Amino acid sequence: MNLLNVTTTILAAIAAFFFFRWRQERKNHQKERNRIKLMQEQELDIERKKHELLLDGLSDALFLVGHDGGICYANTAAKKLFTDRPLIGLAPQEVFPDVRFIESIRKSELKNTAVVKRIVLPQQLSPLGARENRGANAWLMDVAPLPVESYPQAKFRILLRDLTAEYQSEQVRKDFVANASHELRTPLAIIQGYLENLLEDGALTDKSQASRFLSIMSKHTDRVSRIVEDMLVISRLESGEAAALSIEPFEFLSCVLDVLERLEHLIVSQEAHVNIDHVTAGLMLVGDRFYWTQVLFNLIENALKQNPRHGLLVTVTAEIKDGATRIAVSDNGIGIPSQHLPFVFKRFYRVDQNHTNSTIKGTGLGLSIVKRAVEAHGGEISVSSVPGQETKFEIVLPDGARDEA
Ligand code: ADP
Repeated sequence: MNLLNVTTTILAAIAAFFFFRWRQERKNHQKERNRIKLMQEQELDIERKKHELLLDGLSDALFLVGHDGGICYANTAAKKLFTDRPLIGLAPQEVFPDVRFIESIRKSELKNTAVVKRIVLPQQLSPLGARENRGANAWLMDVAPLPVESYPQAKFRILLRDLTAEYQSEQVRKDFVANASHELRTPLAIIQGYLENLLEDGALTDKSQASRFLSIMSKHTDRVSRIVEDMLVISRLESGEAAALSIEPFEFLSCVLDVLERLEHLIVSQEAHVNIDHVTAGLMLVGDRFYWTQVLFNLIENALKQNPRHGLLVTVTAEIKDGATRIAVSDNGIGIPSQHLPFVFKRFYRVDQNHTNSTIKGTGLGLSIVKRAVEAHGGEISVSSVPGQETKFEIVLPDGARDEA
């Protein structure tokens, strides 16, 4: 072998060595690049899952709309809201039931700005579709464009919040104020009328007439006081209900007896009978004794005052079944016609048929106080009535409303 051959072989070996090393390094580099890419993808995936988890945890419905105008993302709340529609790929017009939703989206797109709007809909136009059973429903729509640099795949987001509960309580409050003003205006106008009469020259000298006017005014002042008292109780019960209660164990029977003592004059004058069963006698409740006294007073007083005829039978019973406590106050009096039953717990509602009897005092707030007080204790109240046979108010209290120590 001559020197040239040896040199060529050595050079070839060196070249091969460096080639293989270079190839190995390239392979290693490629491997490393793939590993980093995989890691980045995994991190992105984790990050995306975290975001989705966060968005799925929202109680508001969230939609992202892509550049093609179709929805490209909907969180769990959005999917729950529109269970009947596939959402992804649909245009907002195909999803949202009312033109006002679409107008907000258009406005946001046109002005490239956020648009927040409260939308009140009739039951049949609710996003909940046939599942809506709350009547008028209210929604907060919040649409905003998304910055391209942060969200390359979505053009804007739509947030939808169910405001129905707040809207309905706002309505109830408005009705309450309107009804209360109306109920207070009547006795106040009567008092004012008689006052003006009394202030006329010479009216005070006619002693018998003045005393008649004063007694009418006193009756109507009583009514104003009762309405204001009842309104205060309702407002106390509604100011965060549970917080307004002072909860402690008490003997239910002693509460019933207190009420009967306060109503003794009516019971005696009407020759009514009040029966208390043995479960009632042994029952210990955990609750606010003040409100329970009010509940029983209103129910028993109602039975008595709606039935001034002699010999009425009022029954107070308690039953413990499957952990729940059922308390009932029933009477065998005039009853409540079935068409009025759904409304008797509403504020200021009085059954006309009985209302025409002007000797029956009442504000129409008694049963709404009862309902709110029972609900503040976690219970429910219902009424059934077969006029002339049995009118029964039944309260069901959850396990835990009883003191079993
Ligand atoms: P009120 O202050 O007029 O008694 P409530 O809210 O307590 O108002 O009751 C609403 C209406 O329900 C009453 O006006 C009355 O017509 C009817 N009602 C309630 N309890 C009875 C009952 N035990 N028997 C007959 N009617 C009743």
